[in-house]
Amino acid sequence: MKKEEISAIQNLLATPKKIAIIPHRSPDGDAIGSTLALYHFLLKLNHQPVVIAPNDFPHFLAWMPGSETVLVYENSRENCTKIINDAELVFTLDFNALHRTGEMEQVLNKLSVPMIMIDHHQKPDTYATFTYSDTSFGSTCEMIYNFISFLDKKELIDKTIATCIYTGILTDSGSFRFPSTTSTTHRVVADLIDKGVQNSEVYNLLFDNNSYSSLQLLGRALQNMKLFPEYKTAYITLSQKELDTFHYEKGDTEGIVNYGLTIKGIHFAAIFIEHKDENIIKISFRSQGNFDVNQFARENFNGGGHINAAGGKSYESMKATVAKFEALISKIII
Ligand code: 5GP
Ligand code: MN
Repeated sequence: MKKEEISAIQNLLATPKKIAIIPHRSPDGDAIGSTLALYHFLLKLNHQPVVIAPNDFPHFLAWMPGSETVLVYENSRENCTKIINDAELVFTLDFNALHRTGEMEQVLNKLSVPMIMIDHHQKPDTYATFTYSDTSFGSTCEMIYNFISFLDKKELIDKTIATCIYTGILTDSGSFRFPSTTSTTHRVVADLIDKGVQNSEVYNLLFDNNSYSSLQLLGRALQNMKLFPEYKTAYITLSQKELDTFHYEKGDTEGIVNYGLTIKGIHFAAIFIEHKDENIIKISFRSQGNFDVNQFARENFNGGGHINAAGGKSYESMKATVAKFEALISKIII
């Protein structure tokens, strides 16, 4: 961030304010980690922050400090709209365009108070008064650590804030294995552990809480995998019926898409999940190497994301959606 921008933000934060902090729809570890880290930080600066998520977050994040204070727009539209409209400052974290908040877009679009975007997705929109956007970062949480440093307030990072930041770095980096994990990331993480993060415990809380049925669902997903070695591609489908059979809960399909990439020679993996309530097929794309899934998702499946991890959706049937996908992979070079 530029010096003038930092001073302007320091001025804004110099007096106590009502502040709304917004993650993207279907928030993940980085979205909830970054919003809660900022929430605890702003509390320490005597502000009145509130995190308002467009919809609910997965159960494996429910242990996070402050998660019980998160308001969910879909569950209380009127109350959340009022809080957003009363806010004197709004942070939008871990997304690049207001439509990523779903229905909340209409509320956020009308605001005239200063907005601050902190995000690591490509092609940020220009709605914010201050935009700290950098695609070289593996997580928004690592940028929150920098943001706090820019404000010269690193000494305020306590165990709680550090744990929230650590969670987003861990989840968005695939436990430090994605290429966006730099030596700086590890230095930041080292500092967070020095501040008291129980790194092993956080890992257990996030990843060692499967239910029997969620593992059975994983088994079904792996059995459904289709392989196209000639196109270096693998994809998985899960129908609503299969989700119901295995008592699907939000979060149960997290990470399943990555299994395709663990097959030797596979550089492009996708998962198609039917959501009958919204009448869509939700899609996740992952790649290894240069194949840009952000562009692929944008061009073909109403989505976006990063070069190696993106998402999208289809309004057609599962059959038509995978037929389209198969036709596409036979034409592109992966
Ligand atoms: P996931 O597959 O885990 O849902 O998402 C992977 C990445 O793509 C995340 O960074 C997420 O924010 C982004 N992403 C997922 N779905 C969409 C979408 O519909 N539109 C855009 N622009 N990005 C998405
Ligand atoms: Mn992120």
